Amino acid sequence: AKELGKNNFQFYSEALNTNSLERLSLESSLRSALEHNEFRLYYQPKRRMSNGEVTGMEALLRWEHPELGLVLPMQFIPLAEENGLIIPLGRWVFKTACQQNVTWQQQGYPPLTIAINLSARQFIDEHLLDDIKLALKETGMDPRLLEVEITESMVMRDLQQTIQILQSLKQMGVRVAIDDFGTGYSSLSNLKQFSVDTIKIDGSFIQDIVRSQEDQGLTEAIIAVGRSLGLTVVAEGVENSDQFEFLRRHFCDEFQGFYGNEPLTAEDFAQVVWKQANQ
Ligand code: C2E
Ligand code: CA
Ligand code: CA
Ligand code: CA
Repeated sequence: AKELGKNNFQFYSEALNTNSLERLSLESSLRSALEHNEFRLYYQPKRRMSNGEVTGMEALLRWEHPELGLVLPMQFIPLAEENGLIIPLGRWVFKTACQQNVTWQQQGYPPLTIAINLSARQFIDEHLLDDIKLALKETGMDPRLLEVEITESMVMRDLQQTIQILQSLKQMGVRVAIDDFGTGYSSLSNLKQFSVDTIKIDGSFIQDIVRSQEDQGLTEAIIAVGRSLGLTVVAEGVENSDQFEFLRRHFCDEFQGFYGNEPLTAEDFAQVVWKQANQ
């Protein structure tokens, strides 16, 4: 039994060492990834429920790691939040997304809004507004084509600060979406005060919507709130026609998800959204 315990301990500590080593190497390669140009943006179309028309897109970050391949944000954004790298990385995202959007317009495609995700640390960063202004100025993108997505939990931290930031964004002409709506605790009066443009129903409500009466009720309630405040309501994570039909019947405005398109590279986006539509 003693022998076994020892072995177990050895396994355990080896596992721990591997994890902290992995973390260390992930952290250092994350730091150099920006210099080595290893980040990519994918673009997922947002479509109008009534006619399937593309109304805009969300930029989604990927890390093309030389050995690991494509790494999803879940695996590196929390780390980048912790060590502050999210700030320069976020700047790269603004700039790259705006540049891509301008390039598409220069190529003759119709203008579409582009949504960019902000994490908590970015949202309260004192240079946020300057960073966004700079990206718009450097690329020449129309601010009205930019939407920032912030989560419910982020806006509830400091109400006065949130109202101030959101007002400044509005003054610049930038649109604001509340992401993962329904998972946080923002009250209706807050929503009104924030003067946001869009709410995005969290994908977790959509997943079982065909079976779960609870999720159906919550989704209907969110749509009703959005409509009464005059906001655009977007459902995310829509994967099949049953989910789509439920949302359409209940007057959700727009949807995003694999049922429409998965996140696409810039080349695939142009191919799928514009070229196929004209064929
Ligand atoms: P999110 O903003 O809630 O993004 C939606 C996530 O759902 C994306 O995951 C997207 O790829 C995925 N998705 C889209 N359609 C479907 C579907 O039909 N079914 C399912 N199951 N999933 C779908 P992704 O790209 O892995 O991003 C995860 C999170 O990482 C995002 O959640 C967002 O919070 C964050 N993130 C992504 N890009 C950025 C960025 O540039 N900056 C910051 N700060 N955060 C980002
Ligand atoms: Ca989002
Ligand atoms: Ca979301
Ligand atoms: Ca989410």
